[in-house]
Amino acid sequence: MAANDPLAGAGRVLVFTGAGISTEAGIPDFRSESGLWTRLDPARFTLDSFLRDPAAYWRLRFDLMRELDLANRKPTAAHDAIAAFAATGRLLGVATQNIDGLHERAGTPEDQLARLHGSAHEVACVACRQRFPFAAAEDDLARERLPPRCPACGGVLKPGTVLFGEEMPREPLERAYAWARTCDLCLVVGSSLAVWPAAGIPEAALEGGARLVIVNRHETPLDDEADLVLRESASAAVPRLLR
Ligand code: NAD
Repeated sequence: MAANDPLAGAGRVLVFTGAGISTEAGIPDFRSESGLWTRLDPARFTLDSFLRDPAAYWRLRFDLMRELDLANRKPTAAHDAIAAFAATGRLLGVATQNIDGLHERAGTPEDQLARLHGSAHEVACVACRQRFPFAAAEDDLARERLPPRCPACGGVLKPGTVLFGEEMPREPLERAYAWARTCDLCLVVGSSLAVWPAAGIPEAALEGGARLVIVNRHETPLDDEADLVLRESASAAVPRLLR
């Protein structure tokens, strides 16, 4: 493969993204030196912890959401380049672990986006399982009526993201694995490839015979099997690769 144009000849590209694609938008990742896990305890973000005390969980979560300010974050040059690549007809899909909504905001088409870990812009009812835009919880949260309640059935609302210990939504996971089995190149951007089963998606692409290109600042467990590893910032490398 020509290192100066690693995507040459790839007509069915799967892009797999993690928190690292959004750090340049000001959203910290989990595992870097300035990542969220350096100051937050992951044990407080589990499904068990939520179910034990949903009000306490929402208090913690709402503080974090105010700090992250996702509503005002802008897609990076990497998100934009991926959305523009969709228009070439060579993009099978984007499987993202991110919950920040920046692929959507950049214009990646909905039917080419698999949100593996849900969305921070939604909430879900633990009783009737319906999903709603985050606005459905806003009034309760602003008035500290915690936990917020489902507008349809009055059940407890949980964030629309997958908590640790919670099963991943099947449909996006199946769609992402189908892309992995049929792609001819998988481009990983900004993921430590440490969170399973999501991290199995690039591995499935490799097993299906696809080439692998990784853009990530730190090492990943698949570096040795990749055709090309770029330890660069996503917003510098991805527009160049997809041009
Ligand atoms: P991670 O924190 O485990 O790994 C992020 C990787 O990105 C690191 O290896 C780091 O070297 C790399 N990185 C950071 N900034 C980069 C940049 N500008 N350019 C290139 N590489 C960069 O994240 P993960 O693999 O996505 O897995 C952790 C979980 O974090 C996921 O489940 C995801 O749901 C969740 N998460 C999401 C967000 C978000 O939506 N933006 C933010 C934090 C965590």
